[in-house]
Amino acid sequence: MGLELIILDVLIVLTAITLSLVYLNHSRGSRAFLCEDCRFNTAELCLKTERPMAIDCTSYRPVPEQKSQ
Ligand code: SF4
Repeated sequence: MGLELIILDVLIVLTAITLSLVYLNHSRGSRAFLCEDCRFNTAELCLKTERPMAIDCTSYRPVPEQKSQ
């Protein structure tokens, strides 16, 4: 009975770690803060108090990639 609970606990922890890693891989932005690569990251374009250290923002828009020729 005790061993089964330990195995169940280990499975729960491993599942939580896996889900966290999947979330981090698919979360928006590639930097620590969304503002770092947001196209609105200037005082004129963004009045949010979270700037420049927003970690969650509905207005976040990534800077468009430069097309190389
Ligand atoms: S819109 Fe959001 S992510 Fe973009 S600069 Fe402003 S606070 Fe940061």
